[in-house]
Amino acid sequence: MASSHTVLMRLVASAYSIAQKAGTIVRRVIAEGDLGIVQKTCATDLQTKADRLAQMSICSSLARKFPKLTIIGEEDLPCEEVDQELIEDGQWEEILQQPCPSQYSAIKEEDLVVWVDPLDGTKEYTEGLLDNVTVLIGIAYEGKAIAGVINQPYYNYQAGPDAVLGRTIWGVLGLGAFGFQLKEVPAGKHIITTTRSHNSKLVTDCVTAMNPDDVLRVGGAGNKIIQLIEGKASAYVFASPGCKKWDTCAPEVILHAVGGKLTDIHGNALQYNKEVKHMNSAGVLATLRNYDYYASRVPESVKNALVP
Ligand code: AMP
Ligand code: MG
Ligand code: MG
Repeated sequence: MASSHTVLMRLVASAYSIAQKAGTIVRRVIAEGDLGIVQKTCATDLQTKADRLAQMSICSSLARKFPKLTIIGEEDLPCEEVDQELIEDGQWEEILQQPCPSQYSAIKEEDLVVWVDPLDGTKEYTEGLLDNVTVLIGIAYEGKAIAGVINQPYYNYQAGPDAVLGRTIWGVLGLGAFGFQLKEVPAGKHIITTTRSHNSKLVTDCVTAMNPDDVLRVGGAGNKIIQLIEGKASAYVFASPGCKKWDTCAPEVILHAVGGKLTDIHGNALQYNKEVKHMNSAGVLATLRNYDYYASRVPESVKNALVP
């Protein structure tokens, strides 16, 4: 019998279960103790066994169920048969019970592009900063990020041995974002979150120009968006190339679904169609509230240095 649910809601429900499975892989690799670290472009651009296995799991599980999707994953991996043990076939029932926003109800599988970051915050993962790590599955339609899932495998890991580890946040534009408690930074406080492992003079110049009360340096684009929606930071500022479409697609949806805004450092919306350049060359500026305060303080010298 054909499913009565829309393609988009079935895809989000599957992506939820698939991201959870990827989270268990990320935890298992640490537990087994062999990270299999490979340098990609440089010493701060790393890949581990967890990045590889999680991407194989996510991409193969999605492709098996939705063969006409365009799936773009961060890791460059050889095409090979994936172990059945890595395949996730489940779908999160609570998502299937939600209504699909009417503007997305007629979307076809072949019209969707999925951006996959199997492990965001790899540098921090290799250094044991485990709560910085997320699994990101972003879904785009007509170049726009419209749905996303973020799994945080080590959520709660400092809460003691009895704590339930991990959580999954998901959202669809026009429906909302779920799996967390929305909180704002106290009014008037300017707390900036930015990179820990990919700093540069431009990044520092831009952050300083915003006259922050506090600066947090943490790993991961997913992690920084979680800080925005949970009231730990008021702006995510990254005035540098380096961050890619798979880093921003899912987090952008979660932020936009609760009224926030993510752009490049010039204020341009990011595009997610399959032909787009992967690199976010003009950086990232994201806030839950007061976007204009931060956008108006980006120095001209920083803008001139970052060409979209
Ligand atoms: P960060 O805030 O440093 O954790 O960066 C957020 C995301 O962008 C992570 O996935 C990083 O790997 C990626 N990223 C940022 N800058 C660079 C860079 N210079 N080289 C490689 N990846 C980067
Ligand atoms: Mg990443
Ligand atoms: Mg990654």
